[in-house]
Amino acid sequence: MSKHLVFNSKIGSQKPNSLLNSDADCPFCDRDNLTDLLETEGSIIWLKNKYPTLEDTYQTVIIETDECHSELSEYNKDHLYRVISFGLKHWKNLIHSKRYESVLLFKNHGPYSGGSLRHPHMQIVGLEKMNYLKSMSDEHFNGIQIEHKNGIEYNISKYPRMGFFEFNVIMENHDNIESFADNIQISAHYILNHFNKNCNSYNLFFYELGEKIAVKIMPRFSTSPLFVGYSIPQVSNRIEDVVKKIKTIYF
Ligand SMILES: [Zn+2]
Repeated sequence: MSKHLVFNSKIGSQKPNSLLNSDADCPFCDRDNLTDLLETEGSIIWLKNKYPTLEDTYQTVIIETDECHSELSEYNKDHLYRVISFGLKHWKNLIHSKRYESVLLFKNHGPYSGGSLRHPHMQIVGLEKMNYLKSMSDEHFNGIQIEHKNGIEYNISKYPRMGFFEFNVIMENHDNIESFADNIQISAHYILNHFNKNCNSYNLFFYELGEKIAVKIMPRFSTSPLFVGYSIPQVSNRIEDVVKKIKTIYF
């Protein structure tokens, strides 16, 4: 099984980029011209990605809201739960369809996240020939606990995949989506408002961990050269301080 996804550069060069070019019309605001819709729920739309740059994959996008400059960290609770439930539902359906070796659910926000559009969205990508779980390790989710309540563990990684800080929310049973979503939102809000004044980007990455579901919330900066060149992850020596700060602000 290949370890590389093939990126189609021709399709990639046609993609609009509202982060680099602020004048570009936002395609996700132009709702009347969206095509290949899969499902809608209120202002949330799931559709096929118009620029499927990855070979041997099924690429889809969830447009989270009709407000271009809104952000997951600012949603009211009702909308937050709706977006996370909608994303998990369709991700799980693709997993259970057995059409893919594995299925990714992730979100990019901000210029360092790898995303190209400002409008809040997530992506669900079915991988036909690759199982991402093979590069995962349980220790990536072990951490210093912020809270463990109602079957939801919330921590900061002691042994991150990449570093320096990785927030984890782990749902032990699948019926407590509200607490799961609350902790995702707290992490995103903390990263964008209280973490590091230069941090304007983060990713969410969702994982199947046996019977559990986990999400990593990763603040993004330019990537460490030690990781790029040598795959050496780093961990901050200030994790405990951040755990204390989050408890003080949000709990
Ligand atoms: Zn927009």
